[in-house]
Amino acid sequence: MEVSTKHFRKRNAILECLKNTHAHPSAETLFQMLQDEHPDISLATVYRNLTLFKSQGIIQSLGTVHGIERFDANTAPHVHFICDCCGSVLDLPQLDPPESLCSEAAKATGGQVTGCQLMFTGTCQSCLNQEESA
Ligand code: ZN
Ligand code: MN
Repeated sequence: MEVSTKHFRKRNAILECLKNTHAHPSAETLFQMLQDEHPDISLATVYRNLTLFKSQGIIQSLGTVHGIERFDANTAPHVHFICDCCGSVLDLPQLDPPESLCSEAAKATGGQVTGCQLMFTGTCQSCLNQEESA
């Protein structure tokens, strides 16, 4: 009983932490963010729970940035921008994919479209500014 309550508390802390950030963190970053308030949560526990959440569809994986998997608690279709330079991941809610795009994709494949991940890559504003001042 005690064990499962603890387990649930950790699970919740990890999910809440991911919901409360817009940084699209990796497992490692999330682990570091949890350290202060939840020093008893291990990196392995963060990994295990992220894998579980992903399989349950309550979070989404954005794939890897610089070889490291990044996560988002927002599972609604929305557009991302990834900085090749610093690896920051930004939401672009003003560019949300139109419904027509999904139906076009369904038509093109002749299959069923259940999701859409649109991603722009480039150099973010703060990296551009640093380049200019360097
Ligand atoms: Zn950048
Ligand atoms: Mn996002």
